[in-house]
Amino acid sequence: MAKGRERAGHGRDGAKAVSGTGGAGVQPSDRAPRSKPAGGLYLVATPIGNARDITLRALDVLGAADLVACEDTRVTGRLFAMLGLSAPLTPYHEHNAERARPALLARLREGAVVALVSDAGTPLVSDPGFRLVRACIEEELPVTAVPGASAALTGLQLSGLPTDRFLFAGFLPPKAAARRTALAELAAAPATLVFYESARRLPVALADMATVLGDRAAAVARELTKLFEEVRRGRLHELAAHYAAAGPPKGEVVIVVEAAGEATHTADDLDARLAVALGRASVRDAAAEIAAATGLPRREVYARAVVLARARDEERG
Ligand code: SAM
Repeated sequence: MAKGRERAGHGRDGAKAVSGTGGAGVQPSDRAPRSKPAGGLYLVATPIGNARDITLRALDVLGAADLVACEDTRVTGRLFAMLGLSAPLTPYHEHNAERARPALLARLREGAVVALVSDAGTPLVSDPGFRLVRACIEEELPVTAVPGASAALTGLQLSGLPTDRFLFAGFLPPKAAARRTALAELAAAPATLVFYESARRLPVALADMATVLGDRAAAVARELTKLFEEVRRGRLHELAAHYAAAGPPKGEVVIVVEAAGEATHTADDLDARLAVALGRASVRDAAAEIAAATGLPRREVYARAVVLARARDEERG
């Protein structure tokens, strides 16, 4: 593949692709600015906090784009102003995507360079764009990615948990019952789990993780790449207790949880799950919740819940 210039080509599956620099490793000449990219859809990652995480290639493509589809033109407008970019912006978000897509596809058919960005990070990762990409593939319109920052991978990197196999679970449902069902579906996955979550719901999400997934190692990665970046690591019951007491933190968070393993279904695990559940429910309800999550006999879990609740009450005096 030609280096130092971009061309439209065909992928292995016969679909048209937009090709940039190919081959392994970064070539010195890759630092040179590119000529106008070939027409097509470019999925361009933008920073998740630190503006200097924009890539040289993203600057090339966004600088040359005929049109940039973005979630919020004000948010991307601010980024563009900071980066000295001036391509025309058009909104493409979950509420207007159906209406906006035909116009974007029409521009792509004409051979325009159309970039898709999200408010922050990698488009399509818990952000709009998948249907636009699918429509391009169906019409054999060129589509390629300009990779860069993503909070999921950054949080995973900093979690200290195994990275060889991970499952990106996106956002959990906001309602408690649906959230617990979603967690139960993930409980046996033999992979590190990566979640996005709103800071506001962090305390309840951690409490549900502690009771449904068991007392696993976990990390809360907050404000990644920003001034107040912080990674808090601990067992789920510790993290749940911390945020129950401290309240929701400021900023944005990624939660990373270790894979299902030997720690689950031990006596310590049962106690840790019950401790979290007893913090927000009666002995009976806590026992029912943990019996359902672990599959342990309800009577056995209830007996242990009674012991723990008594010990807690005595400690409180
Ligand atoms: N597409 C984006 C990406 O690739 O990172 C994610 C978009 S999703 C709508 C937004 C969520 O990503 C936030 O609620 C938070 O969970 C996570 N997130 C984004 N920026 C973050 C940051 N700087 N630090 C921690 N989490 C972040």
